[in-house]
Amino acid sequence: MAKTAQSEELIFTGIPASPGIAVGPIHVSARGFSAPEIYEIAENQVAEEQSRFQEAVNITKKQLKDLQERLESLAGNSESEIFEAHVMLLEDKSLIERVLQAIEKRQQNAEYAFYAVMQNFLEAMRRIPDAYLRERTADIEDVSQRVLRNFKVDEESTHQLPDGNHILLAYDLSPSDTASMNRRQLLGFATEQGSVNSHTAILARSFGIPAVVGLEASVIQVTALTPAVIDGYSGKLILNPTIETLEKYINLAAEKERQSDELAARKDEATDTKDGRVISLSANIEFLEELHELTESGAKGVGLYRTEFLLLNGSEMPDENEQADAYKRVAEAVSGEIVIIRTMDAGGDKLPIEPLTEPEPNPFLGWRGIRVSLSRPAMFRDQLRAILRASAHGKLAVMFPLVSGLSELLQARDMLNRCMDELTREGIPFNEKIPVGVMIEVPSAAVCADLLAPNVDFFSIGTNDLIQYTVAVDRVNPHVADLYKPTHPAVIRLIKKTVEAGEAHGIWTGVCGEMAGDIRLTPLLLGLGVEELSVSPKIVPRVGQVIRSLKYSECQAMADEVMKQTRSQHIMDLSMSLAKKCYPDLLD
Ligand code: PEP
Ligand code: MG
Repeated sequence: MAKTAQSEELIFTGIPASPGIAVGPIHVSARGFSAPEIYEIAENQVAEEQSRFQEAVNITKKQLKDLQERLESLAGNSESEIFEAHVMLLEDKSLIERVLQAIEKRQQNAEYAFYAVMQNFLEAMRRIPDAYLRERTADIEDVSQRVLRNFKVDEESTHQLPDGNHILLAYDLSPSDTASMNRRQLLGFATEQGSVNSHTAILARSFGIPAVVGLEASVIQVTALTPAVIDGYSGKLILNPTIETLEKYINLAAEKERQSDELAARKDEATDTKDGRVISLSANIEFLEELHELTESGAKGVGLYRTEFLLLNGSEMPDENEQADAYKRVAEAVSGEIVIIRTMDAGGDKLPIEPLTEPEPNPFLGWRGIRVSLSRPAMFRDQLRAILRASAHGKLAVMFPLVSGLSELLQARDMLNRCMDELTREGIPFNEKIPVGVMIEVPSAAVCADLLAPNVDFFSIGTNDLIQYTVAVDRVNPHVADLYKPTHPAVIRLIKKTVEAGEAHGIWTGVCGEMAGDIRLTPLLLGLGVEELSVSPKIVPRVGQVIRSLKYSECQAMADEVMKQTRSQHIMDLSMSLAKKCYPDLLD
């Protein structure tokens, strides 16, 4: 690893988002403008790099002055003033001096030294409680990006990260950033923002990338290439780890690997409780690349295929044929087991289906899930036809996300029926009895579960959203993460109500939110009558072992006690005490 200016061990604590240990050099990716390549320079190259920086600044100033003149002739003085402000920034002596010093002190290339200084400056500005100053950050990003474009590159040089493998430290990462990362070189990531139920964290767990989120003010303090450890179990980012720290983590990683090998050896055993309650354990997937892992995991089929991730392959949803191929591939990969294809749930913290003219003020309360599908019938029709066509090749089921009540469900079913009629007329085979499910993830749907149940074949509870909407806590906002309580009595009541409505109508209820993989809560979910758990393929063997260690009758008795509780913590304690009794070794 590269040497760094700072050598004292520094520990930042955040939220553990994806288990695992990563050890490697830090690569910083901050906000606003993209990070340039980084490389170390020799002492005798410092002056040369400093003059490359000065030259880039001079070129930029000249461009800005030209732009200013052109705009002045077109639009007058006031419009062109913005460029004057940009030029003034580049004439700020203290800023220029800081970059020159950074090149010398960090012994890093000029682009990166400039980038790091500007990022620190921007992060400091973003934290100032003055709206006007915060808004100016966009101008600074703009001019910084311009300077970066103006660095002259020596074509001969091919600078690479000294070791391509790295830990990414970012202010925030979107689910699409996470999905498109070069995973071969990514050892782990840490972000200042984010929370455990964001889709970024969910993807990290699917990919098995150790991750910590919600680390306040870490980006601002880090020098690129600093040696670091990510502890995805306890949510720590450790900079400049000591030899003892490194040893501790290397041992911990080995111990975890031994445990997971043991669990993997039992992955094909049935997932019945000790007293014979059959629980179906399936997997959540986002990408076809996960199919291999899915089949290896021992999962019984797919409980949730998040089809909106198909949007990452292009700017829009693939056409009917491409989708039919994708769904058929999943069905064939898990032959004989049920594959639940969830119709697209774009929006919220995931990609929108189409560029929005304006950002939504409250994306999680906005245009997402079934609302998007119902308002884009042609696209919805393509997806439903594709699912139906693929249903001729395996045991597919279809499921609708973010349904808030009966009318949306009936509209969706109506579209499904029309697609069936079309395919029948066209003589295209499909399963006429394809099971249809609905996600219970909006409190109104849980409250009206008795109205929905006669119209579906199963319920799948999306606890990630159900919790956020029930307790009004944004699932991706670290500032309110403490209030996001899976065991809030209101959440538990809604789960129970849903299961009971399902039982009354002879349909099963599963859980496909992250709560299904939280083994502290498996006793509670089973006790409430949940019959299916769908979790990330990585943790299927562990959850399977948990189910085999439990007695359904004990879970039921505990769940009865839970219904008398008034506090989240007491509910968590009750479930945990059964977990500790039945599988102490499996709890982290
Ligand atoms: C959920 O909300 O629990 C769920 C499984 O859906 P998603 O995480 O994709 O919103
Ligand atoms: Mg959801």
